[in-house]
Amino acid sequence: MTFKSLGLSPALLANLDAQGYDTPTPIQAKAIPAVINGRDVIGLAQTGTGKTAAFSLPILHNLTTAGERPQGKNHNSFRPVRCLILSPTRELASQIETAIKTYSKGLPLRTTCVVGGVSIKRQQDRLRQGVDILVATPGRLEDLMQQKSLKLNEVTTVILDEADQMLDIGFMPAIRRILKATPRQRQTLLFSATMPKEIRKLSDDHLTDPLEVSVAPVSATADRIDQKIIHLDAGQKLDQLATIVKGYPAQRVIVFTRTKRGADRVAKRLNQDKLQAVAIHGNKSQNQRVRALDAFTRGEAFVMVATDIAARGIDVREVELVVNYEMPDVPESYVHRIGRTARAGAEGCAISLVCPYEIQSLKGIEKLTKQSIPAEDRAGNPITRMPAYDPTDKPVQGGRGGGGGKGGGGRGRSGGGRGKPGGGSKSGGGGNARRKKPGGGGANAGASSGSQSGNAAKPAGGGNRRPTRQRSTKPAPGR
Ligand code: AMP
Repeated sequence: MTFKSLGLSPALLANLDAQGYDTPTPIQAKAIPAVINGRDVIGLAQTGTGKTAAFSLPILHNLTTAGERPQGKNHNSFRPVRCLILSPTRELASQIETAIKTYSKGLPLRTTCVVGGVSIKRQQDRLRQGVDILVATPGRLEDLMQQKSLKLNEVTTVILDEADQMLDIGFMPAIRRILKATPRQRQTLLFSATMPKEIRKLSDDHLTDPLEVSVAPVSATADRIDQKIIHLDAGQKLDQLATIVKGYPAQRVIVFTRTKRGADRVAKRLNQDKLQAVAIHGNKSQNQRVRALDAFTRGEAFVMVATDIAARGIDVREVELVVNYEMPDVPESYVHRIGRTARAGAEGCAISLVCPYEIQSLKGIEKLTKQSIPAEDRAGNPITRMPAYDPTDKPVQGGRGGGGGKGGGGRGRSGGGRGKPGGGSKSGGGGNARRKKPGGGGANAGASSGSQSGNAAKPAGGGNRRPTRQRSTKPAPGR
């Protein structure tokens, strides 16, 4: 199957070609023709499936081929919003905007993004000049509506992206109000990784005879991800994390914590070990979030420590590893988290640090994903029987020095630091540090290569051992 066979216009095909996309992903193959034909669509797709292009491409096609542009006579006169895309987070909104701008290069369409945390005035100015496609988070959109900076009465298409996440954040009442402000006669597309009953109800109330396309149930964790559990005590987590991260020199790692404070503390600790980490969460200002994501995307920081909500929908290529520093409260979040790696055909690894307090959470995840995740102890010895739940061994939210031994070997930057692929890394071949195997390529690389900051006291094997596998690199739209 090709994009051409899906009926997309030549201009869009040229832009896709420039991005190196040759084959539609399954969600694109199913959704694009339906959206071009004007149908409402429910897309059940987990992250990394190409769903942004699945809704963007047919919308761009429709907007540029419909022939009716409800705008003034010349190009510069006011143009009302015709396509509204709602996103749960600022980061996702900004990524959607970037993707759409990439796909719509050269087309006579204006796209803008309005999110909270930044000046509303500049957004008002841009809206005044006219916008065809508006990507927004619900809160800021409602602010703009209240200030009469925006009307939605000429919207022909509404897209709700990551609807289940919007539900989790509490945006459902706002979404219903926003939908009410748009014409009843419109096309509505709803994308969600899961379909809780509130989302089903939303779709029953606001979509007309939708086509439901589902590419992978959320309970199916991406099959290209190697997953591993390390059982340990809560107080050992920080040291273990540092050891693991050192096993991925100059490669992108996302670390998930449950709380914002936890994210800050973990990032601080990694930075103490010169592991170049940034934290991203809801308490950061929008500018800080943008800067952190930029640093991570550009490779200035190799570790991003994030909470679930901040990280949801973030699309960064070549994330080698996801670490669950703390297990999520909701089992579905595990699937979303590990979906940060292995995006668009790439492969990746996910390591979860599980202390006795989190055993129930692990059981929930294994039940949801219908799998038993391989587990080991800190030394890398397999664990076949799940340890007992212990409510007293709570996850430690960062803090002190990581208990006895401290390890981490912070100072000893030589070789172990993130900027360099470790002592024995020459074997990696080619000048591409990103592909090099950690610390000399042994299966148990970290501790054995001698490149790891000399903290031999630590039984690093478990955390460091990573599966060896080929990576495939795919181009992403202008990120
Ligand atoms: P998404 O699920 O929309 O976040 O997309 C995940 C990644 O897949 C993004 O980096 C896209 O650029 C990339 N992508 C989307 N569609 C394709 C395609 N047909 N071929 C190659 N890469 C794609």
